[in-house]
Amino acid sequence: MALTFTYPDLSNHPAFDNHEKILCAEDTDIGFKAYIALHNTRRGPARGGCRYWASYENDNEAIGDVLRLSKGMTFKNALAGLQYGGGKTVIVGKKGTKNPDPAFMEALGHALNELGGAYETGEDVGTRTEDFRIAGHVTDYVSVKSLEKVGAVDLAGGPPLYTAFGVYYGIKAAVKFKFGQDSLKGIRFAVKGLGNVASSLCKLLYADGAKLTVCDIDAEKVKMAAELWGARVVRPEDIIVQNVDVYVPCALGGDINAQSLPLIKAKVIAGAANNQLATPDMATALKEQGILYAPDYAINAGGVINVVEIGASHEDLIKKVQNIGTTLMEIFVRAEREDKTTAEIADIIALERIF
Ligand code: NAD
Repeated sequence: MALTFTYPDLSNHPAFDNHEKILCAEDTDIGFKAYIALHNTRRGPARGGCRYWASYENDNEAIGDVLRLSKGMTFKNALAGLQYGGGKTVIVGKKGTKNPDPAFMEALGHALNELGGAYETGEDVGTRTEDFRIAGHVTDYVSVKSLEKVGAVDLAGGPPLYTAFGVYYGIKAAVKFKFGQDSLKGIRFAVKGLGNVASSLCKLLYADGAKLTVCDIDAEKVKMAAELWGARVVRPEDIIVQNVDVYVPCALGGDINAQSLPLIKAKVIAGAANNQLATPDMATALKEQGILYAPDYAINAGGVINVVEIGASHEDLIKKVQNIGTTLMEIFVRAEREDKTTAEIADIIALERIF
């Protein structure tokens, strides 16, 4: 069978949420199947990464994922002030593989052409820059961003660096709002995970006078943090209970849950990880506990700003990423004034910008 395109009617799917278009691209000869969901293009053509995932139990799981993620991109792009709508691709991976075959990326390229420019995509979980170079042989609708180092900064560039800057400006806004302090001098941080984002972030925090407690499952990374930034090192299972001012989740999601919540001593939670709240009701629980939460999709948008603003200079990117701090301050002020959670206000502001 050659590559086919269908537009399944998913209006009864629980995650449908008025998606504008869902394309299913399939080529059974090579075992390729992908769903491309365009949630909302009122602010501009859709943007959102392409995930390759080989562990879906069934099609419905892949569809639920693509719908949920593309809606998330509509909100994230709008809140970041980008003139783009939200979309996402999920390639249903072959069991036991981590990345797509070249033939899959070519097939994806043809599927993107089918959408005629309404959506452009790039790296996400399971896909790499080189995969999009392959898709780029047959389509213009992929972002292939070079990740060369950024002049003044001696750490790797690309999305993680701008995510780190965005989290840094977000943290500054949160510290100003909660503690009335402009600099981070003497503020105590507990950082979970020292990967691509957090390694740049810690450098910025340290330069601003922060006191760091860190953890990672990688012993080399914690050793480096202790040497470079005088960081105190704790075990990963102990990081969330540290007696600090700000908790900075930069590993995986789900840290804030019913078990961890009563143990958190920090008064601010602001970090890069996606899906920090295990369940939506955690936002209310944090508010009741007097903890200021910087909504994850608002504070970690620096990477997506970098991806969609192809060709922008480092200086221009930094200006856009600084807006993350401004938006977060708006969220904190409104949440207090309207007695709502910061998560609710982030969604409200995103919706105001979309409609
Ligand atoms: P990364 O994989 O480079 O870093 C994650 C780090 O967390 C690694 O050093 C890993 O060893 C560590 N880690 C994993 N499990 C841990 C545990 N249980 N305890 C302590 N440390 C643990 O990832 P990254 O690019 O730095 O991204 C960090 C987070 O930010 C992720 O949740 C990612 O989804 C999110 N995020 C990243 C970007 C980006 O631009 N890279 C953008 C938005 C959101």
